[in-house]
Amino acid sequence: MNTGRKIAVVTGSSKGIGKTIALAFAKSGEYRGIVVNSRKQAEAEQTAEEIISLGKSDCIAIEADMSKENDCIKLIEETTTHYGRIDVLVDNAGIQHEVPFEETSKEIWQKIIDVDLTGPFVCSREAVKHMMKNQNPKVGCIINISSVHQEIPKPFYVAYAAAKAGIKMMTKTMALELARYNIRVNAVAPGAIETEMNRELKVDEAELRNVLRRIPLERIGTTQEVANVVEFLASDKGSYVTGSIYFVDGGMTLYPAFGPSLEAA
Ligand code: NAP
Repeated sequence: MNTGRKIAVVTGSSKGIGKTIALAFAKSGEYRGIVVNSRKQAEAEQTAEEIISLGKSDCIAIEADMSKENDCIKLIEETTTHYGRIDVLVDNAGIQHEVPFEETSKEIWQKIIDVDLTGPFVCSREAVKHMMKNQNPKVGCIINISSVHQEIPKPFYVAYAAAKAGIKMMTKTMALELARYNIRVNAVAPGAIETEMNRELKVDEAELRNVLRRIPLERIGTTQEVANVVEFLASDKGSYVTGSIYFVDGGMTLYPAFGPSLEAA
């Protein structure tokens, strides 16, 4: 068992990008403890078992709903009670919902903002209270998982695009304010990645072709390709990086927008 000192929390890590990030941390050997999370304890525990079986770090699973302030507070509190500190927080849990703008109810809007923007805010706020007190080493690192849609408008997903745009400015503002405590704050913004969030791309060939036309590297990304960048940012190799947004999108953001000019091309 590695006695390295870092403790990391990855929200929404029972599957998809979050799970791959948690496993990448575990394989790196840089972590003494990793906290995985989702709304379903059994599924989070499966990830925890996989991590423990790698033999390089301890891991606990904490059920918590990132749309609820008290659950976010509990997640960070239980982490610091169990491991004594928190060094790395990855705000990864996220949801989206396709609905025409004029049919977007306040409930749908609020749910997506709560999970995708307010959850990361509350978790970060609570984690920072502990990171500010960290000694030996005096560090903290927060990585918010954003999306290309912090930049590229996403028709039929107004709340999602608004939440991710909020993540962008929250990341930069936190980075500026918290640098004096040596707390680094960055965001990783994926493009189209092969997860359940994109399950329609597996069955809808026309939609897949449509998406691939917008990706210069002409393929969907893997969760590992996102985790690689998160792992780097969380490590000491990223020690001089703060306030940055890393796009992991095969070049998708090189296009100005999903607008009519592209459709015509
Ligand atoms: P995913 O495969 O659907 O997994 C989402 C994870 O978050 C699951 O573990 C899920 O578990 C958990 N989760 C969902 N709602 C939660 C809540 N309220 N509280 C706690 N956990 C919750 O999603 P993904 O594709 O890996 O996406 C992860 C992040 O990457 C999101 O922030 C997403 O916006 C971003 N992203 C993804 C893509 C992509 O192409 N996949 C592109 C850009 C950005 P439970 O449902 O069991 O709680």
